[in-house]
Amino acid sequence: ESYKRIAQTDESIKAFLTLNEDGARAAAAELDKLLQEDGERGLLFGLPAGIKDNIVTEGLLTTCASQFLSNYDPIYDAAVVKKLKAAQSITIGKLNMDEFAMGGSNENSSFFPTRNPWNTDYVPGGSSGGSAASVAAGQVYFSLGSDTGGSIRQPAAYCGIVGLKPTYGLVSRFGLVAFASSLDQIGPLTKNVEDSAYVLQAIAGYDPMDSTSANVEIPDYLSSLTGDVKGLRIGVPKEYLGQGIDPKVKESVLAALKQFESLGATWEEVSLPHTEYAVATYYLLASSEASSNLARFDGVRYGVRTDNPDNLIDLYRKSRSQGFGDEVKRRIMLGTYALSSGYYDAYYLKAQKVRTLIKQDFDNVFENYDLIIGPTAPTTAFRIGEQVGDPLTMYLNDICTIPVSLAGVPAISVPCGFADGMPVGLQIIGKAFDERTVLRAAHAFE
Ligand code: GLN
Repeated sequence: ESYKRIAQTDESIKAFLTLNEDGARAAAAELDKLLQEDGERGLLFGLPAGIKDNIVTEGLLTTCASQFLSNYDPIYDAAVVKKLKAAQSITIGKLNMDEFAMGGSNENSSFFPTRNPWNTDYVPGGSSGGSAASVAAGQVYFSLGSDTGGSIRQPAAYCGIVGLKPTYGLVSRFGLVAFASSLDQIGPLTKNVEDSAYVLQAIAGYDPMDSTSANVEIPDYLSSLTGDVKGLRIGVPKEYLGQGIDPKVKESVLAALKQFESLGATWEEVSLPHTEYAVATYYLLASSEASSNLARFDGVRYGVRTDNPDNLIDLYRKSRSQGFGDEVKRRIMLGTYALSSGYYDAYYLKAQKVRTLIKQDFDNVFENYDLIIGPTAPTTAFRIGEQVGDPLTMYLNDICTIPVSLAGVPAISVPCGFADGMPVGLQIIGKAFDERTVLRAAHAFE
């Protein structure tokens, strides 16, 4: 069914980079056999899944939408892929993204841009744009994405689906091609909140192979979906509804807050005073980490190597200048600069200090509130090509999601209406490791 739907729709959506048709059929046959033998069914039994192309899959190309890795065929499965297999879901294929997850529109894919299923002239968001579009178009039942500064939540909002970024450390990053290791988290993109809880249940958990994995007890997420939000205290940051936010998006968010009131929750305006520094802080830290992480792509160990280099330095230089796209180069240069001696204290170290202040903003609000709610993105999806020449505008699309990533706390985006025919996302942010309350509120609302 999935492949039929992909054949019907992917010519216009272009969500997939690689299909796993033979592998999927073999996996389905195994499950059929299991059914006949009355074997035990996994949590995600038979569900067709799409995987973002920066999550490694054994024997299935993993390109990060980069020319550099266009031939990279991993020899192992990421921890999350192993967990999906254990839960008996079926991997349908690998999904398009911004190159190395750098971007917010999918236009930075070095292969082709994915299109928004609601209107194919519009971007699906990014960087997990293929993951969001494939779920919205009904090609797969759910997908996995990665979120460094908004890359699960923003495309979920633009495509009218549910996207969850778990608490940093809840889901193993082993086998996720690193962009900014102190921020990267894998999470589910689904049609509804219940599915999100199912997928999270399957992928969460401690992994000694990821040194930042948290050794915490995994609660039962499904039992948190009670429908009851009576007495929940919600803080609404004034910085998320002020300047730069589309009035129609704001209207949808206020209507959502009314709905929470009618369900018995209360809300008040709060302040996250360091929000204005979040985007600058993020681009310094994420680019610094990226410049270091992407040093491994040298033309020797992974991916494509240049032809006929003069010497070793020439091999590095040519492989990297041919393999990486413009946005990736921009970030490597910015990060290398911020980390270089003489500038480190002024930029990288300063940004680390501001990150602490941003995290403290959240700690302060969470002393008195259970959740923080606002828009996922300041606008709805924009037209393909509209912002390509303007990286700064593009960076500002993440103003509501980046602070959450810097603080490491969980957040979900759920659909909350439409503006000019395109979906609007509501962002529900929780305390660290309190995915249960986030899911409960999202489920009661949707
Ligand atoms: N759009 C942001 C960026 O370009 C976020 C990307 C992400 O979360 N991977 O960095």
